[in-house]
Amino acid sequence: MRKQRGLLIVLSGPSGVGKGTVRKELFSQPDTNYEYSISMTTRLPREGETDEVDYFFKSREDFEELISQGKLLEYAEYVGNYYGTPLDYVNQTRDAGRDVFLEIEVQGAEQVREKVPDGLFIFLAPPSLSELEKRLTGRGTETDAIIQSRITEARKELEMMNLYDYVVENDEVERACERINAIVIAEHCKRERV
Ligand code: 5GP
Repeated sequence: MRKQRGLLIVLSGPSGVGKGTVRKELFSQPDTNYEYSISMTTRLPREGETDEVDYFFKSREDFEELISQGKLLEYAEYVGNYYGTPLDYVNQTRDAGRDVFLEIEVQGAEQVREKVPDGLFIFLAPPSLSELEKRLTGRGTETDAIIQSRITEARKELEMMNLYDYVVENDEVERACERINAIVIAEHCKRERV
């Protein structure tokens, strides 16, 4: 079969839904076929986070420089910090025939949809809004004010769900990962023609 360009897989959904946990579980599996695109951010590292592993941690000035040089596929300002996806890494990896996996919030996913119409867009949904609020409150890494802004943001983000190719409920991490893997396999079968 003809060698295809790698897929661009975009996993999005509200903060606190468990995107990071699902992504880490996917990438801990030995047979994972995706390359994770490490994002840039101006947010300070949380305890246990490492530069160039969890994020490329940047100053606001450096991030704005990257924006003006057109080095980001997408970026968004989210609860006071910038987050963005390095463009060259995504293109080079796809050109090499490898799938690239982005884990980003919904404003960024909207930009990717406009620029990359053949992307695969997966929305990770919470079992309910009250469950999401519980997860955001229980994480214990943020102040009350930040938790409140994340809940407000999450309500808006849930309204975007219908624009996605697939919705995966994150009722349980392993089941969510199984569904994501199944979606990606199905997409390859759909797109790869002799
Ligand atoms: P956190 O501060 O919890 O690590 O991330 C906050 C939000 O930013 C999460 O919803 C996360 O998925 C999102 N995010 C992480 N990297 C990127 C990125 O490169 N672009 C965009 N638009 N959002 C991102």
